[in-house]
Amino acid sequence: MAKTMKAAVVEKPGVLVIKQVPVPQISDEEVLIKVKYTGICGTDWSIFTGKYSADKLPLIPGHEFSGTVAQVGKKAKGLKEGERVTADINMSCGTCFYCRKGQKLMCRDFHQLGIHIDGTYAEYVKAPFDQVHRLPDNLDFLTGAFVEPVSCVIHSSKAARITHGSSVAILGSGLGALHGALAHLRGAAPVIVIGRNPRKLAIAKELGADITINIKEIKDPVAEVRKLTEGRGADFVVEAVGTPQTYEQAFDMVRPGGTVVAFGICAGDDTIRIKPFDLVLGEKTVASSCAGVGPDWSDAIALLAYGHIKPQCMFSMIVPLEELEAALRELRSDPNLSKVFVSTEISKREILSK
Ligand SMILES: [Zn+2]
Ligand SMILES: [Zn+2]
Repeated sequence: MAKTMKAAVVEKPGVLVIKQVPVPQISDEEVLIKVKYTGICGTDWSIFTGKYSADKLPLIPGHEFSGTVAQVGKKAKGLKEGERVTADINMSCGTCFYCRKGQKLMCRDFHQLGIHIDGTYAEYVKAPFDQVHRLPDNLDFLTGAFVEPVSCVIHSSKAARITHGSSVAILGSGLGALHGALAHLRGAAPVIVIGRNPRKLAIAKELGADITINIKEIKDPVAEVRKLTEGRGADFVVEAVGTPQTYEQAFDMVRPGGTVVAFGICAGDDTIRIKPFDLVLGEKTVASSCAGVGPDWSDAIALLAYGHIKPQCMFSMIVPLEELEAALRELRSDPNLSKVFVSTEISKREILSK
């Protein structure tokens, strides 16, 4: 086993360098994983620019990944070298009030691989053995690197408890397209996805949306959703953009007695204006979710392996690790790009879909 490996390190805000670093040393309870692919996530941009986790730098980001078990700690049960895996990135103390309540995302010592501790923009990463999930044979490495975002959307879908025949409007057509896929699987109708990019809206349709609304053509999506729901508003509205304006729209768009699903991440000091009067008289519910955790991961793996969710139309390209910073910038400037993966094993980018 080599002692050093290639990794992308954010040394300080705005400074990302590709360099040799020590291969992580595993404890008895940990597993070393040779990384195959890592999907680029919006969080990586926030880490790169210092908006998120700035106190953790220098850090190797990267958290949506697949790989192969390279080394197994002495007390790491149930895993063998060579097995294809991904890993639940959410770690907690296990003993605090929240952990005992089964709410590990609220743990005071909550930390995530690739966000608070070193992640997968590297040749190797280590993870506690009980966080590691095997990928079944019918799940390829690329789709395996997409389990994390699907697990987040599944967590949100479970929190929302979307029911058969209910109308669901989704603000946002990035991960919003996946929310549409999940709503469709839960038997919702109609599933309405709202966005501004024709290509992403087409993907949303492919994944299960019944209707898409392009806000460049239809200026008032709230009125449009009311029109589509006999004037009531949708039974469920998922906010998957993360701006105060779209959160306010979500509360306007949901029908009395309906549920707003909070998913999009705003800035820490953003605030919204809602009328408590409407909330109380309309008996509106808010369901929130911040990440996929525990069983959400195995559920995501099952749905992907059996093709109940087919996200491959969202996969744009694979770039070599050396092009990570360029790809982070391209994702900001090119609205047609969806999922971009990073590999340490290639030297030229591979285009997957246009
Ligand atoms: Zn992510
Ligand atoms: Zn805890």
